[in-house]
Amino acid sequence: MLVEVPTQHPEAPRSLLGLSQTELSIWAESQGQPAYRGRQIHDWIYAKGARSLDEITVLPKQWRAQMAEFPVGRSQIHYRSVAADDTVKFLLRLSDGETVEAVGIPTAGRLTVCVSSQVGCPMACDFCATGKGGFQRNLYAHEIVDQVLTVQEDMNRRVNNIVFMGMGEPLLNAEQVVRTVQCLNHDVGISQRGMTISTVGVPGQIRRLAEHHLQATLAVSLHASNQPIRERLIPSARKYPLEALLAECQEYVTLTGRRVTFEYILLAELNDEPEHAVELANHLRGFQSHVNLIPYNPISEVDYQRPSPRRIQQFVQALEDRHIAVSVRRTRGLEADAACGQLRRRQTS
Ligand code: SAH
Repeated sequence: MLVEVPTQHPEAPRSLLGLSQTELSIWAESQGQPAYRGRQIHDWIYAKGARSLDEITVLPKQWRAQMAEFPVGRSQIHYRSVAADDTVKFLLRLSDGETVEAVGIPTAGRLTVCVSSQVGCPMACDFCATGKGGFQRNLYAHEIVDQVLTVQEDMNRRVNNIVFMGMGEPLLNAEQVVRTVQCLNHDVGISQRGMTISTVGVPGQIRRLAEHHLQATLAVSLHASNQPIRERLIPSARKYPLEALLAECQEYVTLTGRRVTFEYILLAELNDEPEHAVELANHLRGFQSHVNLIPYNPISEVDYQRPSPRRIQQFVQALEDRHIAVSVRRTRGLEADAACGQLRRRQTS
C-alpha cells in the first residue's frame, strides 16, 4: 500500500520551499495570479537560488513588491568551517532563531550532504554530541531542503547524495522526512537511490517507512551485539529491545525487497571484542543486510576511545569470516567537529 503524505495547505503555506510545482501553482492562483507563475517560482527557488519573491524578476513588479516579505524559507549561514579534507560544516540560522548544522562532504566526483532532521535530539545516545544539548523541535521539510540547497550553492557543485545523519532522529519526524525525500527527488532532482535515512529505531516507524516504498536506503544504528550493551549506550533501547528492532528490520526487508544497512560504532574495549563480532554475525545470518562500522569520533563529554586500526581490522575479519558484508566508514571532517556524532547547535571550532 502506498501512503500519501498530506500536502501542505496550499492557501496558507508556511514557506514556498518544500512545495511541489502543482502546489506552487495552486498557491499562485490563490493569490490572484495565473497558474504558470507557480512554474516560474519553482524554477527560481529550486534551481536559481532565489531567497525572496522580490528577486524573481520574471514576476510582475507590483506583485513582487507586495509579496517581498512572503517567506521563501531559506536560512542564513551563521558560521562555516572547512576541515583539512575539504569537508565543510555549516551552522544555519532558521527563521525562529534556532540553529542547525549541515555538512558538505566532497568525494571523487560526488558531493554528499549530511542533513539534520531536528533541532537537537531527544534520544540522548551516550556517545553523541547532539543529544548532550537536548531537544528543541522538529524541522519542517523546507528547512531540510534548504540545507541541501545551501551546501549546493556554497560549494558550487551538484549534490548527488543525501544522508539523514546530522542532528536529530529522522523517524521521530517521519512525515517531514518523507516529504523532504520526495521534494529533493522531484523538485531538486536528486535520485532517491542516493539517499540514506539513518535511525536508532523508533517502535513501529520502520514498518511505517516501508509502506512509503521509497528507494532510499534505510540505515539502522545498532551499535551493540546484545541488549545489555545497547541499553548502556542508547537509553531508548530499554523500551525497544534489540530482538524487536531486528524483527522490524526483517519486516522492512520483506515489505520493500531492499537490504538494510546496520551501523555499528566501534568503541574500544566496550563493543569491539571478537566475541561481539561473532554475536553480531549470528543475529545477521541470512539477513539481507550490510554492516557499516563507524570508528568512534571523540566528543568532550565522555571518554570513550576509538579502537586501534589493527583492532578494527580484526572485527572486520571476524565478520567477513562469517560471510557478513561489511565496510568501515571513512572519517570525514574530524578536526572541524563535522564528523558523525559531533554536530551541535553551537559553534565549536
Ligand atoms: N539519529 C540517527 C542519526 C544520527 S547520526 C541515528 O541514530 O541513526 C548518524 C550516525 O552517527 C549514527 O549511527 C550515530 O549513532 C553515529 N554517531 C553518533 N555519535 C557518534 C560518534 N561520536 N562517533 C561516531 N559515530 C557517531
